Amino acid sequence: MADAAKKPSVKGAKHTLCRRVGQCLWGMPNCPTNTKVRKSADGTETSSSPRAYPAGQHGPTRRRGKLSTYGELLLEKQKLRKFYDLTEHQLRFIYESSKRGEGITGDKLLRNLEMRLMTVVYRSGLASTIFAARQVVSHRHVLVDGKIVDRASYRLKPGQVVTINAERSPKIAEIAKLSDAVIPPYLEKDKDACKVTIVHEPLPEEIPLNVEITKVIEYYAR
Ligand SMILES: [Zn+2]
Repeated sequence: MADAAKKPSVKGAKHTLCRRVGQCLWGMPNCPTNTKVRKSADGTETSSSPRAYPAGQHGPTRRRGKLSTYGELLLEKQKLRKFYDLTEHQLRFIYESSKRGEGITGDKLLRNLEMRLMTVVYRSGLASTIFAARQVVSHRHVLVDGKIVDRASYRLKPGQVVTINAERSPKIAEIAKLSDAVIPPYLEKDKDACKVTIVHEPLPEEIPLNVEITKVIEYYAR
């Protein structure tokens, strides 16, 4: 399945859902839900108040009642979709394929999402955001087992090795080397070589994710 070209988005639009949830989905420092401290030329510091409330004119004031059950399910599904930077069509496709065969659908869905090439590039710090990860892959900077793979949705398997094409992309490699990303236990990183090995398929409890996956499954199963 090819990843569709992304539409250009207005500044901050990526974080719209963060504001609804009240915290950044990816823990990014430049999210509007964080307090920003600015230092002016004379040394005084001013801090902006965090915009940890829903976007829009009535965001800060309008009372939003308790979400309906459907609303809760929808919100968890949206959080999952945004976190992995997927279209609705892509997430539904991955859900449908996770449903087939043996095993728990939610666990398989998470594994399939984590083992996409662009997710591994993000998780391992080869790119600093999920959006940068998609671009680094589609711009042919990433090798899998020594060969260029430019498909962001490529499904990795244990034993495979992901590297930055350092000869062709020295700048991308430099950025990857500076990363201080915390590497989850199913990945192993050789920082200086910009090399990431898939150690094993991720276990649900190893995946750093703030989404209730059972609600996502319930949403699609309705
Ligand atoms: Zn955010």
